[in-house]
Amino acid sequence: MADGEMSARGRRRAAEAGIVAVAGLSAFAVAHASLLVPETARPISAPMAAVAKAAPVTAPPEDDVLIAFEEPVPGHAVVSPFGLRQLPWEGNGRLHEGVDISADAGVPVIAAADGVVVAAGTKGGYGRYVAVRHAEALTTFYAHLGGIRDGLKPGMAIKAGDTLGRIGSTGTSTGPHLHFEIRDAQDRPLNPAMFLGKAFDEAGDLPLDKAKRYSGRVRMAYVSFIPESKRALMDARNAPPVRVFKRATTDAQDEAAATRNLEGSLAREAQRQEKMDGLKGLSIGPDGRPRAQLSM
Ligand SMILES: [Zn+2]
Repeated sequence: MADGEMSARGRRRAAEAGIVAVAGLSAFAVAHASLLVPETARPISAPMAAVAKAAPVTAPPEDDVLIAFEEPVPGHAVVSPFGLRQLPWEGNGRLHEGVDISADAGVPVIAAADGVVVAAGTKGGYGRYVAVRHAEALTTFYAHLGGIRDGLKPGMAIKAGDTLGRIGSTGTSTGPHLHFEIRDAQDRPLNPAMFLGKAFDEAGDLPLDKAKRYSGRVRMAYVSFIPESKRALMDARNAPPVRVFKRATTDAQDEAAATRNLEGSLAREAQRQEKMDGLKGLSIGPDGRPRAQLSM
């Protein structure tokens, strides 16, 4: 960072605005990306210098705000809130770590608050995503994007309302929507409903403890579209259970039994034959029984 670019007053103002929190982000691995911001890309200096130059001597009202959150897809509703949720292809409920905001593919997704892009790319079920670091080491996370804004990359400073990408349905998604998360400095998910549309003057005002809580009740999620990757799981859940009867014997045991049976029948046959041979030469009486043979 070129220190000369920012006056002492600018640095002080940056500190008052809580923006200094981002200076530590090079040592911070974002939850979903494990990407680090390169040392060369410390982002805040230039924009903050501009703010410092433009700002009047008396502090304007917005300087009293530590961080303010806008809706990431303005005018579109949250269709699935933060909390325990069971998807149709899942056997159990699990924590939905953010909110889902439904909107048509292509609708712009904006940064919820001022900050610095810390990750942008593609990751598994999240599909295309962007992560932004804010004051107090809070992170916002935008997933299932159809596209990421051209040129957007880690280290870039952005303002609330800047476009990050477009609504899509990438990753494991049940149709076009934004999966939006807010995480604390320890990467724990926070309930976005307690932040969106609200401004916080100082760190102590952030509802960090309250926003980590969620009810033990599991909501069943109803989806209009089953992702391709979940079809087999879904089919398995819908199909009547297949009853598998456990075999009582092994192949070797069956074979041994068959051998014993064969030996048994051979032995019985031999016995019968022996008996028949013994009867040869005997004269049979009218009652069908052999008569005692008279010795000659
Ligand atoms: Zn979601």
